[in-house]
Amino acid sequence: DPSVCALLPVLGRDVTVPLVTGGEVTYAALDYAASAPALQRVWDDVAAYAPYYGSVHRGAGYLSQLSTDLFENSRRTVAEFLGCRAEDQVVFTRSTTDSLNLLAAALPANCQVFVYETEHHASLLPWRNAQVTYLDAPRTPGQAVETLERALADRDPYGPALVCVTGASNVTGELWPVRELAAAAHAHGARIVLDAAQLAPHHPVDIAELDVDWVAFSGHKLYAPFGSGVLAGRADWLRAAEPYLAGGGASRKVARRADGGVDVDWHTTAARHEAGSPNVIGVHAIASACKALTEAGFDNLVAREQELVSRVREGLAEVPEVRVLSLFGDDAPRVGVISFVVRGWNSSHFAAALSAEYGIGVRDGLFCAHPLVRTLLGSDPQEPGECGAPEAGPGERSEVGVPPAEGRGRSLNAIRVSFGAGT
Ligand code: PMP
Repeated sequence: DPSVCALLPVLGRDVTVPLVTGGEVTYAALDYAASAPALQRVWDDVAAYAPYYGSVHRGAGYLSQLSTDLFENSRRTVAEFLGCRAEDQVVFTRSTTDSLNLLAAALPANCQVFVYETEHHASLLPWRNAQVTYLDAPRTPGQAVETLERALADRDPYGPALVCVTGASNVTGELWPVRELAAAAHAHGARIVLDAAQLAPHHPVDIAELDVDWVAFSGHKLYAPFGSGVLAGRADWLRAAEPYLAGGGASRKVARRADGGVDVDWHTTAARHEAGSPNVIGVHAIASACKALTEAGFDNLVAREQELVSRVREGLAEVPEVRVLSLFGDDAPRVGVISFVVRGWNSSHFAAALSAEYGIGVRDGLFCAHPLVRTLLGSDPQEPGECGAPEAGPGERSEVGVPPAEGRGRSLNAIRVSFGAGT
């Protein structure tokens, strides 16, 4: 399909890597959930703009004006991509982590936060200054809604509350019932923020249609790895909050007072939370990726990706030692992210062997979702007991291609393959 071919990423296509067994092989990049390579279109758009680079909101010169227009037009493109309502703001950040920390800093006083223990750490941890209720891992999408409804029914109905949920898991790839969770949140007077870091590259995300209050995502997972992210949604809490960063660009007017202090008149637009010189290349790259995905058509992308998901799952099902990790069961709808363990193998050894012997790049570990992966690993009755193998820390690798001689038992971490429609 030519529209999907147009989405082939730049990297991992014709890159050859050496193998420990000698010779080299074309690299298979299967770690898009950690970070996805730039689409050719994004790369080309960034390169075409590069000679015209200039400061945003900070210059009278032609290139500054052009760069400012590009930056603000990118905001409109992202708003369109997300189906934003007229009153929504699109704030450019560094990443999903940054976006959710911004929202955490903008919570009204005495806000209660409800978050599943299964969340990525970026959505689990930023709420440490609020009163947080951690919800138990549900085992069906319906149970997720019930758990939330039960927790919300017990809350103070007059105080502000926020639910934070991931649209697609970066561990299992499974889709969460976002629309139903949003309806439950709103029925109990709470608001909801969608962590779309893993969802947006694979599925259309429409704020108005899902009826969520905010959406956060990262450029680097959306084939635009140039250092920008997005927080989009309701303006009221953002406008009422102290600026996330204090500095140039966030303030309309700053003046010394007669008493020697300083008066600041902060912007009430998205600029309030965007102090400092904007990353126009990162933002331009995100807008370019939004256009590329929209033009390819999510129907085409989903269809192609589901073929790949089926092939990988069918292949894994043929290996008796492999156990695919799943919270909601085999039939749950999912994106191109599949985590598994191989009985008798330490996941770090296995992932290292895939790279060294086959040139396949995957990730092993707990994927910044420790409680979730531990729940998934701990639930297999066929793998009782602790495995003697240590959890691999960052960069820790043992001899490749060698199954551990001892400590066969429950895995302490998992292997993840992840990809997109253009893979
Ligand atoms: N949420 C989810 C579901 C993710 O997959 C990720 C990235 N793996 C994040 C949040 C955090 O994104 P970032 O590292 O770009 O801030």
